[in-house]
Amino acid sequence: MPLGRSLTQIIKKQLSKYKPCILTYHGVVKDSLNVPVWSFIDEKKFKEQIKLLSENYNCISLNQLITDIRNNTIKPRSVVITFDDGFENNYSVAFPILKKYNVPATIFLTAGYINTNELIWPDKLLTILQIPDQSIYFQNEIHSTSTPDEKAKAFFAITRALKQLHPYQINTELERIVTENNINYENDVNEQTFRSIKIMNWAQAKEMQDSKLIDFGSHTITHTIVSRLSEQEAYNEINESKKIIENHLGPINLFAYPNGTLDDFTPINRQQAIDAGYTAICTAITGVTDKNSNLYDLKRITVSPSISMNNFIFSLDGGIALSEGGLVLNLFRKMRKFFSS
Ligand SMILES: [Zn+2]
Repeated sequence: MPLGRSLTQIIKKQLSKYKPCILTYHGVVKDSLNVPVWSFIDEKKFKEQIKLLSENYNCISLNQLITDIRNNTIKPRSVVITFDDGFENNYSVAFPILKKYNVPATIFLTAGYINTNELIWPDKLLTILQIPDQSIYFQNEIHSTSTPDEKAKAFFAITRALKQLHPYQINTELERIVTENNINYENDVNEQTFRSIKIMNWAQAKEMQDSKLIDFGSHTITHTIVSRLSEQEAYNEINESKKIIENHLGPINLFAYPNGTLDDFTPINRQQAIDAGYTAICTAITGVTDKNSNLYDLKRITVSPSISMNNFIFSLDGGIALSEGGLVLNLFRKMRKFFSS
């Protein structure tokens, strides 16, 4: 058999395994925002992706995937949709699309922000930076904000500084920015931007839950990176958020770490979540799942708002697995076997 053809077959065989993917979304927006929110996908693009998934993949809930992993009954091309943070646009923009195509999803709620007008801090900073025309004063420096580019630069500089603080001090520091720059936040905030990035309320969550298409998990109370908290603080975030959500929506068993990269949680945090009664934990570490996946370390694939349809399909059909190393290694072994036979 010609080498090229057999290699193609090996690659196709690997890709055709179609390991289950857990996709991560954040916000879905009707109109593009006048602020650079990296995690918000356009409604039209989201609709195309969900349509494609509903027609070509086995769209299942996260809890169904957990059952399939436990029982070794994973079906090919299984895909799970998750949303982090609990944005209201999950209800107003994404939910009608999910209903139309009958695609289930899990939303990880930032419990302390539901039913409030508070924004998760990076989102609040974005709305603050929209207000001044010329510049903003922060920690003895003046950051120019005359153009969108300058606003983006100011955002990254201020974010970098705020991340050095204890997580619970960040909101106080944001308030200081508002006061020191004589901003009247309630009056001056851009209505449309605020509405697009606000968090949902309990009635919206309940309506989605009643549809049986959407279920919920916890994403802590304050969207704080748990590895940066004391053990007691992390315990509260993980346990109390579960209680808050369960008071409104009944029992939950799913948890996702805020930020969720390798540095953002510790083995102690994982054990705290297990002890709290969560039966599965999602990270933001990139990867697919399979029958051997640890349910307390589930990898996901974050859907970038700028991803092309071709790359979206490539990721689902093994592209991520290819880049993970395991599969490349596997391929390499098969190639070596081929040459030595
Ligand atoms: Zn989050």
